[in-house]
Amino acid sequence: MRVLLVEDDALIASGIVAGLEALGIAVEHAASGLAAVSAHAENTFDALVLDLGLPDGDGLGVLANIRAVEPEVPVLILTARDAIEHRIAGLNGGADDYMVKPFDLRELSARLHALMRRAQGRAAQVIEAGPLRLEPASGLAWLDGEPVELSRKEVDLLAHLASTRGRWLTPDMLHERMYGLSERVNSNALNVHIHNVRRKLGCEVIQTARGLGYRLGWKLS
Ligand code: CA
Repeated sequence: MRVLLVEDDALIASGIVAGLEALGIAVEHAASGLAAVSAHAENTFDALVLDLGLPDGDGLGVLANIRAVEPEVPVLILTARDAIEHRIAGLNGGADDYMVKPFDLRELSARLHALMRRAQGRAAQVIEAGPLRLEPASGLAWLDGEPVELSRKEVDLLAHLASTRGRWLTPDMLHERMYGLSERVNSNALNVHIHNVRRKLGCEVIQTARGLGYRLGWKLS
């Protein structure tokens, strides 16, 4: 689980980073709207925590920018602005949740988990990409209409790759999504799953590019 935190106050930001990482959530910090947009262009996140008062503009501009390329990623606005019109503007602007400072880290973490669970529920009904059909919940898969047997981890791997909708996942990001931050797993385990998925579905199912990482080789339909 990986979160992009957009917050210009260094003290608040370091508190959130430390607090969420202690709860097993990896956090990347951006201190301005520009830094946020470029971090988002380079990486895939499971959720965003977004301050509204940023040095280079309003967080709502960042939200519009990110929503334009990624309509699905959960966004939680975390701001000192508590007026009802700000809340409404934030939610109308595409935020999924709104919290007002001062806040409790445990509540922030609980809300983030809830948002990500909901997003996963939305995303993971059926994945159809090229000749592949995959139902992550049941683990059933078909290639060109023929059933294929996949392990739980192989299904997870394909679901994580599909969830980025064509964007690349670095080996570290993919590893973190598969195993979390706390679980120490030999990085070779991931390679074994990738190898096995390719053996079962064909090499082209997972694309690899140096410096970019991995992505699903077939376009989602
Ligand atoms: Ca601020």
